[in-house]
Amino acid sequence: MKFKIVLVWALLLTFVVNAQNPDAKKYGSQITADQLKEYLSIIASDALEGRETGTRGQKMAAAFIAAHFQELGFKAPVNGSYYQPVELYSSMTGEAYLKVGQTRLDNFSGIIYSGTADSGGEVSLPVVFAGYGSEAEFNQVDVKDKAVVLLAKEMRMRGNPVVKMAQDKGAKLILLCAHETLAEFDNIAGQFKNFMSGGRISLTKPQPGNAAVTMVVSNVTVEKIFNTTLAKLKDATAADAKKTPLKKFKGANVQYKVTTEVKTIYSDNVLGYLEGTDKKDELVVITAHYDHIGKMKGGTGDLINNGADDDGSGTVSVLAIAKAFAQAKKEGKGPRRSILFMTVTGEEKGLLGSEYYSEHPVFPLTSTVVDLNIDMVGRRDPQHKDGTYVYVIGSDKLSADLHELSERVNKENLNIAFDYTYNDQNHPDRLYYRSDHWNFAKKNIPIVFYFDGIHEDYHKPSDEVSKIEFDLIEKRAQTVFFTAWEIANRDNRLKVDEEKKIKD
Ligand SMILES: [Zn+2]
Repeated sequence: MKFKIVLVWALLLTFVVNAQNPDAKKYGSQITADQLKEYLSIIASDALEGRETGTRGQKMAAAFIAAHFQELGFKAPVNGSYYQPVELYSSMTGEAYLKVGQTRLDNFSGIIYSGTADSGGEVSLPVVFAGYGSEAEFNQVDVKDKAVVLLAKEMRMRGNPVVKMAQDKGAKLILLCAHETLAEFDNIAGQFKNFMSGGRISLTKPQPGNAAVTMVVSNVTVEKIFNTTLAKLKDATAADAKKTPLKKFKGANVQYKVTTEVKTIYSDNVLGYLEGTDKKDELVVITAHYDHIGKMKGGTGDLINNGADDDGSGTVSVLAIAKAFAQAKKEGKGPRRSILFMTVTGEEKGLLGSEYYSEHPVFPLTSTVVDLNIDMVGRRDPQHKDGTYVYVIGSDKLSADLHELSERVNKENLNIAFDYTYNDQNHPDRLYYRSDHWNFAKKNIPIVFYFDGIHEDYHKPSDEVSKIEFDLIEKRAQTVFFTAWEIANRDNRLKVDEEKKIKD
């Protein structure tokens, strides 16, 4: 009996030792907390000013990453460069004013406008009053090709049903009055001014059109337009709709002008390429985004959003994993498939760098086997007070083969807790669609997204290096390394399940 137990143990031990690949273990263990800390202290330092896309701080991060790839002896895969240029466009409201009589109201003082239309010069329009914008009220007045004033219950300019109704009825200028006092209006206008300074960023060059324009205006402006009081306008909205009381408020013409400023932002994805051996035409991609949200546009105290976790932690993981693979190759243990280490730009602006890559791939997408995406792996969330865990998202969405491999490799190595809470595509936080792997998944390339959860310092200046748990990054980055090692070295390419593919 005793003998039998010993035999079983011996067999189990043999199994475990065999399952672990000694080479993978050797090079994976070269990824260390100290090394990750050294890299992150640079990537997330105040000097890099929060790495906002297109800024000098982001370009400093890019230079650091490219130099790292060069030191590792990686090929520069973009026509001899580590940089894949990504041109982005920022569109911001340019000039915007409203004239009522002799008074000109500029943006954030008298009006609030955040659109990106172009009126094609100053436009003069007759103005009508449509109360709270109910169907009955719109039936009393003709707003087509006019300016319309609405007493709004909410000041949203986009997605507001009364704005939609006014647009559908053909209004050219929609003036929303949502505040009872000028002080209230001015307060909101000040907040908007701060918030709006960033502009909207896109991959395609915007063509500002002469669409209907929506502005928020103060109660004082509305009173001036109709030469009456807000109270009287409100009274009229409460009166019998059949008697068309709204018609008696006729304003003089108003004039307005809006323009849009389009600027080009020059940024780059940074790519390092490690060529494989007998299966070098197939490619494993490991990604993280090196951009973050930059500095706060106003306020006092610490204004730099360091993005130590988001996604400094993923970026330094990619650098460390790259170094471990480079060392393996130097010692004749390089991967059979090629590996592309890619830190992307513009993630915080809408996954733009990875979208650009997926539309302008440097290596054929048909030969791209997997994307392992690391976005936030340096912290723990309130749901995990202790222990080593990581949220694993998307591993089963396109390939049962990948999911099985990912689970098995983890069990054979560090056996950290894989939490699949966010793996549900219908989870309200929709994380499967919220980082760069999605641009690979939508091209039917299997992905795994590694993530640590939402914490209190998310997108705040307090996302600092001092709050990072480097032991956690080490374990998580090693797990990604072991997974990549297995995918890059196994005999068969990962199988994509036909029935799971996304059809256009
Ligand atoms: Zn992120």
